[in-house]
Amino acid sequence: MSRFWNEKTRSIEPYVAGEQPKPGQKVIKLNTNENPYPATPKIREILEQVEIGTLGRYPDTSSRPVREALAEYYQVRPEQVFCGNGSDEVLAFAFQAFFESGSSAAPLLVPDISYSFYPVYADLYNIPLKKIPLKEDFRIDVDAFCSEKGGGVAFANPNAPTSLKLPMTEVEKILQANPDHVVLVDEAYAAFSDETARDLLPKYKNLLVTGTLSKSHSLAGVRLGFVIGDEELIEGLCRIRDSFNSYPVGCIAQKVATVTVKEKEWVEENVRKICVTRDRIKEELRKRGWTVLDSKTNFLFARPAGIGADLLYTKLREKCILVRYFNKPRINEYLRITIGTDEEMDALLKAVDEIAGGNKL
Ligand code: PMP
Repeated sequence: MSRFWNEKTRSIEPYVAGEQPKPGQKVIKLNTNENPYPATPKIREILEQVEIGTLGRYPDTSSRPVREALAEYYQVRPEQVFCGNGSDEVLAFAFQAFFESGSSAAPLLVPDISYSFYPVYADLYNIPLKKIPLKEDFRIDVDAFCSEKGGGVAFANPNAPTSLKLPMTEVEKILQANPDHVVLVDEAYAAFSDETARDLLPKYKNLLVTGTLSKSHSLAGVRLGFVIGDEELIEGLCRIRDSFNSYPVGCIAQKVATVTVKEKEWVEENVRKICVTRDRIKEELRKRGWTVLDSKTNFLFARPAGIGADLLYTKLREKCILVRYFNKPRINEYLRITIGTDEEMDALLKAVDEIAGGNKL
């Protein structure tokens, strides 16, 4: 605490990212929902072609080549796509562009358990927030979202950390109940699912769908997130970007992202491998008596059997396996486990069996 901090800096509770291993430390890292597989080899060619001279120039402010590649992939117009420094930044811009601040404003509606950055941004930008509890089975309570009078809606679908997907018929109900406000659907994990709210875009001008190359495209380190929506909404985001940082995506990130988005088959295979491993490990854990939610993401949300989640988290950490534990009401008996390679996940199962003392059923 410094006496120079302003009121906001003193009062905010920043987002806490998953633990990052120290350089050189050998761990099995299953705690931040990254993709364990390397990025496409095509990137090597692109990096070799980078002309050093171009690094002295500012990048394209709107990430035009990436937007064009994404537009082609998702069959929308480039004017419907906005790129930022990770979808975290895109979400931050959207909060500033579309949700009202001040104590008299109608609150932004979010699920009580969802991506923990939403309350952080709401607080940072003085946006009043109303948390709508998930149902007993951890599903989003659509009726409650539809009956509340809010100033906008934001939720992750599939949701995090629960890993559950809300079907598009339900997403549509939320859109219809909020025709005068933006509904922000955070699809960071939708590539691992079988549905996307992008299909609803032609029908709803109030819909914004975010995405990221961090998970499906193995590019978390590159920081490229995007959002797709109506052109007027995108223009609003550009106004916020150009009032904050006109060049949010560096030129190397733009090149790497563009080539990767065009690698359609590679991306699909990258996602498929994760889904196969996810479904195998889900069954393995269930065989051991765990409660494992029906994940449509690249992670599992699971309650261990025969040992508390917090103790198992600590014991796995001692064995250099990092998973995520949230010491928060309702989810403190669960672990969030990112899907790694098959070898990493087998090592996890082995460690779990050792810790549980042969508890395997
Ligand atoms: N939304 C959700 C639900 C996430 O879990 C994450 C990753 N932590 C993000 C957005 C942000 O991802 P990125 O900034 O890497 O695009």
